[in-house]
Amino acid sequence: MTSREMVTVMKTVTVVVSVYNEEQALPQFFEAVKNVLDQAAWDYELLFVNDGSTDKSLEILERMAAADSRVKLVSFSRNFGHEAAMIAGLDYSDGDLVICMDADLQHPPECIPKILAAAEEGFDVINMVRTRNRSAGLFKEAASAAFYRVINALSDVKFEANASDFFAVSRRVVEVLKGSYREKVRFLRGYVQNLGFRKTKLEYEAGVRVAGESKYSIKKLFSFAVNTILCFSNLPLRLGIYAGVITGGLGFLVMIYTILTWVRVGTPDGYATIVVLICFMFAVLFLIVGIIGEYIAILFSEMKDRPIYIVEKTENISQNRAM
Ligand code: UDP
Ligand code: MG
Repeated sequence: MTSREMVTVMKTVTVVVSVYNEEQALPQFFEAVKNVLDQAAWDYELLFVNDGSTDKSLEILERMAAADSRVKLVSFSRNFGHEAAMIAGLDYSDGDLVICMDADLQHPPECIPKILAAAEEGFDVINMVRTRNRSAGLFKEAASAAFYRVINALSDVKFEANASDFFAVSRRVVEVLKGSYREKVRFLRGYVQNLGFRKTKLEYEAGVRVAGESKYSIKKLFSFAVNTILCFSNLPLRLGIYAGVITGGLGFLVMIYTILTWVRVGTPDGYATIVVLICFMFAVLFLIVGIIGEYIAILFSEMKDRPIYIVEKTENISQNRAM
């Protein structure tokens, strides 16, 4: 083989798909994604991560894996969440490029050729940015915009507001993520945007979910947002200092006022003021204690160092993989 031929060895792309109760969407997704990949100039592996589905998803995936060795399967012992599934996908991927996408066809497989083209141009991080999200309600969209405004104001790293869990990273970025970003409370999409390397954005229009319903409840999204803000910013911890300085200043003014009144007309009667101030001050105090508590909870889960996910079984994954 000449050196020229060696350069043109076919590259492999791993498509990582997190699956949680997607029995209705899977067949359609598989068909669509396979169609696109079969035509691509890249070799491919389709790595499904079953995140503890309770429906027939696992059976369907096992059947797909039995029929096609390019379909790989990692199945969790229970539900660990979408982020954990994507991390497992990165861990078990072999490709020169790894694309993470959802199983509900909201991330159109038709975008894959564009992503591969960007990778061929040498980009290491390819973020897919939604131009329009046809299935998110007004509330979800407003909440998401508010979240990004808060986190961009508080944290020193910057986040793309319409970024999604649809992205592609090169092998060397995968290795960085695998090695150094094993936090228990995390925001993968945030890391991906802030690793540096050559990166680019491609736009896509988020489709409507083909079948089934969204697995993210408002409550889940809220706790996710709070955790992310706490993970990427120490500013809330400083609220205590600010509150202390402000109330100290106010206290000083009230002291001067009290002395002046006492000199002029005797001890001032301040029952109402005292009650209001005490309530207010305690509210501030408890809020700050609560914020510190949230940080301690994060520290605690990091310290316990439990696994991000537990694998129950795999299909078509080489045995010598030490995970
Ligand atoms: N998902 C997962 N584990 C979960 C929740 C969701 O692996 O605990 C998967 C789900 O199967 C889908 C993707 O993550 O492929 C995105 O989930 P969903 O479509 O419910 O979120 P949305 O698009 O509504 O934000
Ligand atoms: Mg979805």
